[in-house]
Amino acid sequence: MPASPATSRKPVSIITGGAGFLGSHLGDRLLAEGHRVVAIDNLVTGGLDNIAHHADDPDFEFIDQDVSRFIDWPGEVDHIFHFASPASPFDYLELPIQTMKAGSLGTHNALGLARAKGASFLLASTSEVYGDPLVHPQREDYWGNVNPIGPRGVYDEAKRFSEALTMAYHRAHGIDTKIVRIFNTYGPRMRLHDGRVVPAFIGQALEGKPLTVFGDGGQTRSFCYVSDLIDGIYRLSQSDCHEPVNIGNPRETTILQFAERIRKLIPGAGPIVHEPLPEDDPKVRQPDISRAKEWLGWEPRVPFEEGIVETIGYFRKKCAK
Ligand code: UDP
Repeated sequence: MPASPATSRKPVSIITGGAGFLGSHLGDRLLAEGHRVVAIDNLVTGGLDNIAHHADDPDFEFIDQDVSRFIDWPGEVDHIFHFASPASPFDYLELPIQTMKAGSLGTHNALGLARAKGASFLLASTSEVYGDPLVHPQREDYWGNVNPIGPRGVYDEAKRFSEALTMAYHRAHGIDTKIVRIFNTYGPRMRLHDGRVVPAFIGQALEGKPLTVFGDGGQTRSFCYVSDLIDGIYRLSQSDCHEPVNIGNPRETTILQFAERIRKLIPGAGPIVHEPLPEDDPKVRQPDISRAKEWLGWEPRVPFEEGIVETIGYFRKKCAK
């Protein structure tokens, strides 16, 4: 991502969802790389705590705005990262229409701004585009198995639409676009009560409550530590890869095994209890990262044992507040 031609000014990056879990970590990385960062967020699921450490940084600006309404920025913009969306199943079931608007109108607005400014555009897409996959592990050329009218469809289809619109802007207007398909990610700044399995189990264990495994816990996920994910996204942003790229950690675990690991790591955790499996819950999920390895020279580095200890430390502090 070179500095802007003809000037020595810092590159300007807009991050929609810039106060969220991933958007805020991306902002940290871009600032460290010498960018000016404008974070746009309506704080529905993001939080000012995630960006409070930039309060006195002249290179950081926060705008409280919903991206499903027209977005603008008065100056030059070099890069747009579209991360705004509710992202946990719990949140997007609570906010189904906002989720669809962030993925459809929000993506349209962000692409329109990229076009108007001549900026590059990176879409935060998701492994959910593969739905309940019939191909395992998931490669980028797999088209997926999504129920469009199920409760998860609001997120999955919004992201699939976002990908289609992004490719349309690339083909029709020559916008320099990138698409990252983000697999399950964990780390500090997840919300304790966002319903996702990592904060759910850690929060329950820290409070001595039972760990709620949905179904028999035989379903699998593959968890990537946030710093690895952000590094993959940064490399993608610097590349000229326009096809989607999976970024995630291929280390697969069943949810039951994951619950057992958390119970071992947190003394005083309650027992495992089983609750009904949510509708359309994917049975397996594991990224094939051959493309990221080959195109970006990227693979995850942080061992689960390290990442989970960092994450538990973060939630311990949150619970103590
Ligand atoms: N899950 C669970 N207990 C919880 C929360 C989630 O067993 O308290 C399961 C959920 O059914 C899914 C997996 O953990 O199979 C991951 O769920 P999450 O909400 O983190 O994200 P997903 O990968 O489904 O988008």
